[in-house]
Amino acid sequence: MIKSVILDLDGTVYEGSRLINGADIAIAEMRDKGIKVIFCTNNSSRPVIDISNKLNSMGIDCNEEDVVSSAFLAIRYAVDNRLEKVYFCGSDRMKDEFMRNDIDLCKPEECRNLIIGMDTEYDYKKMTYGVRAALKAKNIIICNEDRLYPTEDGMMPGCGAMVSSILSVTQKKYDIILGKPGTAMMSFISKKYGFRPEEMMVIGDTETSDVAMANAYGSPSLLVGKDIRSLADSPHKL
Ligand SMILES: [Mg+2]
Repeated sequence: MIKSVILDLDGTVYEGSRLINGADIAIAEMRDKGIKVIFCTNNSSRPVIDISNKLNSMGIDCNEEDVVSSAFLAIRYAVDNRLEKVYFCGSDRMKDEFMRNDIDLCKPEECRNLIIGMDTEYDYKKMTYGVRAALKAKNIIICNEDRLYPTEDGMMPGCGAMVSSILSVTQKKYDIILGKPGTAMMSFISKKYGFRPEEMMVIGDTETSDVAMANAYGSPSLLVGKDIRSLADSPHKL
């Protein structure tokens, strides 16, 4: 029996600032069936409060607790493991969140733990700092390695563009991936709510990310565009 839906956002619930037709109704129907809906996104440029505010502004009831992102897990990981000498290569908005959580941020040259998240302002200077940090780092943690993500203007390069630029020139590999298709987000939700893998249905639009995560965790999944036409079709499949 499905107790929870782990719902992808970009390309499944919205595209940029546009709500996908029927997504709000489908989510309300799932909740009416007593299913816990958790929004699960590889987004690593903004804190979860921004994401829940965006969903509320689109007419989808949501609080911070209902959203799990790869950036949220990056903070949890740094706090839980008491990471020292962290260099965060990512957005200013997320850097503020790292500071608010008292994470020991350092200069690239002092880095022991490099964390890479999405930054739409990423440029040559930021790449240089990321590379310097990677050369020193003992541990490289990435939010995700997504190549592309959809917006209302078309496709944009994802966090994977930043990850590849830093890792390819330093000839290093990452140690930990927090986002999809890794299963860290599934484990977090499972532990928090006590759901078993088979009780958690993943719904998303990307086979290599959403479905791959579900398969790796032993959970069922619905792929938008293949198993269902859109999220609006999902409630009767649960
Ligand atoms: Mg998606």
